Amino acid sequence: MGNKKNLLGLKEEELIDFFSSLGEKKYRAHQLMDWIYKKGVFSFYEMTNFPLDLREKLNKIAYIQELHLVAQKTSREDNVTKYLFELEDQERIESVVMEYSHGFTACISSQVGCRMGCIFCASGKGGLARSLSSAEMMAQVLFLRKDLERHGKFLSGIVLMGMGEPLENFQAVIDFLYLLSSPQAVNMSLRHVTLSTCGIVPRILQLAQLKLPLTLSVSLNAPVNSLREKIMPVNRSYPLEKLLEACKVYEKETGTRITFDYILIGNLNSKKGYAHILANLIKNINCHVNLIPFNPVKGLEYKSPDPEEVNSFKEALERAGIPVTVRRTLGRDIDAACGQLRRRKNIS
Ligand code: SF4
Repeated sequence: MGNKKNLLGLKEEELIDFFSSLGEKKYRAHQLMDWIYKKGVFSFYEMTNFPLDLREKLNKIAYIQELHLVAQKTSREDNVTKYLFELEDQERIESVVMEYSHGFTACISSQVGCRMGCIFCASGKGGLARSLSSAEMMAQVLFLRKDLERHGKFLSGIVLMGMGEPLENFQAVIDFLYLLSSPQAVNMSLRHVTLSTCGIVPRILQLAQLKLPLTLSVSLNAPVNSLREKIMPVNRSYPLEKLLEACKVYEKETGTRITFDYILIGNLNSKKGYAHILANLIKNINCHVNLIPFNPVKGLEYKSPDPEEVNSFKEALERAGIPVTVRRTLGRDIDAACGQLRRRKNIS
């Protein structure tokens, strides 16, 4: 876009400054936000309450960033649609829309790739290329919302659970969340937003101090340090004791219930004995456990757990009084685990 200024993702005050630098009144900023975030209009020429000369001027000096759709796949098994987008620098990211009983949720990416190296994850395979801007996160939301609305459906929630570790891109994620929840912009309650982390303890504590009502979803995957280190290298820096302490602080500061995600990988972390240790570890935390049977990834040697193993793991947690659900493995036929579609498209 050359030297043009991207107006997507700017805060209200920044847009007011931008319009005043053009000699325009501050209400122009509110009108523009209305077009972008409420109506999903990105062309200045369609902003009919702007005088024509202002539309022409804006078109010369500014633009509203949009994503270029490279591929889209919808699962035949369940209502999951996966999108592969190209960014302005030709990097590629993925987003997913999933249908739940309560509505449609968009799973968006916060980075191109990821440097955390979790062994079960396709996103981490190629390392981190770069972090996304708040505008690039917002562009995913606006694209997916528009695509749903085209089919008479509505977006009801967001999960930051796509490619990348959101807490490694802290400030851009916070800027994105403020804009997402701003009444001038998307106006989505943060109660409908979940942020997933592999467990960056100092950032969890920093997030807790902001007292946002969003759900923190912690990817746990093992109840003992020796095993968790093998599955998630981040555990070497932030072992389980420190991570769970940080979760308690988050729960206390925000008054929200923590979700612990536990990907059950056959022959690795799915034995019932681990469920007992896990129950003991988290019994004093207001939490919910999400068991996710591993979705086989091409190029990774790990396998799905047996259904009986999944059941007995779940029952052991339930017997210990821990609320638990087994998440269906969404979109198995369309590479819906994070990073799979991008890897395949980059390879082919
Ligand atoms: S699971 Fe999340 S944190 Fe771990 S490598 Fe994948 S994207 Fe990164």
